[in-house]
Formats: sequence, structure tokens, C-alpha cells
Amino acid sequence: MSQRAPPAPARSNARVPERWRKEVERILITEDQIARRVRQMSREIERDFAGREMAVVSLLNGTVMFLADLIRHLSVPLRLDFIGVSSYRLGTESADLVFTKELRLDVRGRDVLLVDDILDTGKTLSRVLDKVRALRPRRIKTCVLLNKAARRVEDVKTDYVGFEIPDFFVVGYGLDFGERYRNLPFVGVLHPRVYQTACPRIDSAETKKVKGRGNARSTISPLSR
Ligand code: 5GP
Ligand code: MG
Repeated sequence: MSQRAPPAPARSNARVPERWRKEVERILITEDQIARRVRQMSREIERDFAGREMAVVSLLNGTVMFLADLIRHLSVPLRLDFIGVSSYRLGTESADLVFTKELRLDVRGRDVLLVDDILDTGKTLSRVLDKVRALRPRRIKTCVLLNKAARRVEDVKTDYVGFEIPDFFVVGYGLDFGERYRNLPFVGVLHPRVYQTACPRIDSAETKKVKGRGNARSTISPLSR
């Protein structure tokens, strides 16, 4: 196994662009920091997968930007397909996962790279890993842009992690809140007032908890992921 650079810390003093200031509290990871780290991850992946065609399996929709940047720096032969996963939830705990797109690529006997945007409780990736493992690939490596280790419930093995982040609800660079904010070029902390407007049905105790902890989210999640 080759030497890996540890996940980069998510830290930035960059100012939120005027346009987003009402909705985004602060920038956690800038566009440049993301670009540098993603290039580094591509190099590590390229080294580990050298010599065999790889099958990249990416989770929709949150990986859209990360995946595009990651694979454009991979100069090894690869095949690409997607798995669609969706969950509808109000409150913290992940609700039932619904598969909205099944994998069509034949991964049997292949070297799979499973890509997701963020590892939170680990429930999603663990379900998807079971599903892909059942297809008998030769090996599976997991790759996530962000890791929120504080919230882990399922023990999921991660082979490539872009950034370790604290327990904040983040948006941008593919990550959404109610399908919005995916187009932001940076990863930012969503302003709690956005939940309060978007989720008026959340009871006041939960809202207070979010307010009290800044955006240290634990009670309110996006309606869809
Ligand atoms: P898990 O099953 O690990 O709890 O959740 C993983 C999924 O939840 C991610 O793929 C992502 O779609 C969503 N998620 C978890 N934390 C965040 C977050 O801070 N921001 C956004 N936008 N989505 C999140
Ligand atoms: Mg996701």
C-alpha cells in the first residue's frame, strides 16, 4: 500500500461572497483547497489502481462536482456508473433509504472505487457497500470528499478521505439542502435561519437546540439527499 497524505483539515478565513451571505454562515473549505486536495486524492487512487481497469461507482446526486474533478485527473482506464440513493427525512436520524437508480455496470471480478460526497452516520455507505459486495467485485475501495466522524453510527471503512469536518451541516460543491446550493464552488456552513424557514414544522425545542449550537447540526437534515 502506498503512502497516503492524511485528510486535510477544513479551515478557511475566506469571506462568503455577497450573493450567499444570507444563507451561508461561513466558508469551511475554499475552491482552491478543494482543487488541491482532489488532485492529491486522484494521484493516490491512480497509484493504488495502476495496471487494471477500474470501475468507478458514484452515488447520486451529491457527488456531481467531486466526481467530475476527481476522474478528470485519473489517467487510468476506467468505467463509470451511478447508484441513486435518496432519503426523505425531517430530524436527524436517517430515514429509510430508497434506491432511485440501480447499478447497471457489471462489477463482478473488478476493482471498484465507490465514491460519495460525505460520510455522516455511515448508514448510506454501509447499505451501498453491502449491495455492491453482493455483486462480487474483486475489491472495493471507498472514497469520500468529507468525513464527519463525530456522527458515525455504522463502522464504515474509508480508503480515501478529502477533509475531516466538524459536526456542521454543510452545503456546496455538490452538497445540497432541499436540492439547493449544489452549485456553490466552495463547501460552506448553512445558516440555521435557512432551516427555520425551510422546515417550519420542526418543533421549537429542536430549533432552539440548533440555534444554541450555532450550526452544530443534530436535529435537522435536508429533506432529500
Ligand atoms: P449517512 O447515511 O452517512 O448519515 O449520510 C450520508 C448522506 O447524508 C450523504 O451522502 C449526504 O447526502 C447526506 N448528508 C450528511 N451530512 C450532510 C451535510 O452536512 N450536508 C449535506 N448537504 N448532506 C449531508
Ligand atoms: Mg449523498
